[in-house]
Amino acid sequence: MLVQIARLLATLDLDDVLQQTIQLTTQTVGAARGTFFLLDAQGESLQRFISAQAYDAETREIVSRRVLEQGLAGWVMMNQQSALIEDTLTDPRWVVLDAEKERARVRSVLCVPFFVEGELRGVMTLEHPQPYHFTQAHLRLVEAAANQAAASLRNAQLFDRVQAQQRELQAILDSVSESLLVLDRLFCVRLANPAALALLGAQESDVLGFNLEALAARLDNPFLAQLAQKLTAALQDAQSRFELRDERAKRDFVVNVASIDARRAAESGYVLALSDVSSLKDLTRLKTHMIQMASHDLKNPIGVLRNYLDVIRADVDSGLLPDRRFLENMYKALARMEALVVNLLNVQRAEETEPLSRELFDPYELINAALEDMLPSLHVRQQTLIQNLQPNLRPLKGDFSRLREAINNLLDNASKYTPEGGEIVVSAYSEDERFTFSVKDNGYGIPADQQAAIFQPHFRATQAATRHISGSGIGLSLVKEVIERHGGQVWFVSKEGQGSTFGFWLPILT
Ligand code: ADP
Repeated sequence: MLVQIARLLATLDLDDVLQQTIQLTTQTVGAARGTFFLLDAQGESLQRFISAQAYDAETREIVSRRVLEQGLAGWVMMNQQSALIEDTLTDPRWVVLDAEKERARVRSVLCVPFFVEGELRGVMTLEHPQPYHFTQAHLRLVEAAANQAAASLRNAQLFDRVQAQQRELQAILDSVSESLLVLDRLFCVRLANPAALALLGAQESDVLGFNLEALAARLDNPFLAQLAQKLTAALQDAQSRFELRDERAKRDFVVNVASIDARRAAESGYVLALSDVSSLKDLTRLKTHMIQMASHDLKNPIGVLRNYLDVIRADVDSGLLPDRRFLENMYKALARMEALVVNLLNVQRAEETEPLSRELFDPYELINAALEDMLPSLHVRQQTLIQNLQPNLRPLKGDFSRLREAINNLLDNASKYTPEGGEIVVSAYSEDERFTFSVKDNGYGIPADQQAAIFQPHFRATQAATRHISGSGIGLSLVKEVIERHGGQVWFVSKEGQGSTFGFWLPILT
């Protein structure tokens, strides 16, 4: 038995070590069954309770607590010495758990403590249905077995702890949204969490063991080559953080670098945490752009106003009535400024992504409100408005004021990108649970090669005919956002020099 127990040293599985120790000693001393209470590596709480009895989880908990607090195992732990009970009926250290059944089953008991490096780590109990079954010789033999098993127990417990820590680490790695890469000193990937694999669009087996540069070539991913370069530079400059842009995916990252072992940084390898900061960058870029644009675009109408005011003051000083056309032009400059400010506000609002309201309203009310806003610009540009609204449009549900802004943007564009005297047709109909709205103009149109980007924020088509028209390139992106948040879609068709039709549909919700 002792030889077999000594062989357990090669076993790293804790449950195996415990089971086999019980089994070998049970057989050797002719016991009916054995139980093991194992404390954790700190000797503080119960780590395993192995019993021949098939208890459910709750009963196990109750049984183990009672036995440890009041029973023989508790006594052995407390006194740190073995115990031999010749007859359970006459020994108060034996607590009877299930009165009659057990009285018949267990009459004699051996119980020995297990010490690892002098610290109590567990207790094994062997039972027999006959009284006076166990002898002092049995006791000494089992004590020797416990001594022998201690080293295996220690190894298995350490291994168990390492495994538990590894599982914890794995759970952490799996749950963080940052992409984590662990590299050895040659930049070979030793570990990549699911977020990192998703970022690289690769399986674990594609990346493990590969050096970053080799991987860049293998996955045809310039981002990785750039990562290797920047990492080398950062390590040379003793920097623990750098920025990186994935040009293909148009995403920005901040990479934090930590050495696995700070004292032997160059040999131990590195942990890289890549955080996607694109949305922050987009926001910063958007704000910078808005500020540049607003200051640039506002300068012009302000200049115009100042010039006219100078002229008018001079006229008034010399007793003349100012020219009415000057006033009209001043109004125009003012309108441009207003439009810019409205756009800025819209961007601000879109960033805040206020929740949409969901009110029931009459679509004619929506369209008429928007058309009313448009009348002055139609008037100034002498454009004709044709309304093509289906009678009996079904009521809509959604955010009235944001939809009104969306329609306003489409109407404004139609008027703005159509020369004086042009024609604008507004249509609306409901069909198949959809409400469809469109604005057709016979204006400048959009060059075919620029149409794909038209709904992107800040995009403005560049063509000679519309160069004189100021704008921010924000309007259409807002229209798209509002419509899509309502569950609908935007579309357009356009031909350069002939005109454009912009439209959208919304689901009719009841
Ligand atoms: P803005 O008008 O402020 O530039 P928008 O986002 O409303 O911004 O529009 C983006 C671009 O789409 C415009 O710059 C213009 O090039 C083009 N565009 C939009 N509507 C029309 C239209 N009805 N006709 C021709 N071009 C248009």
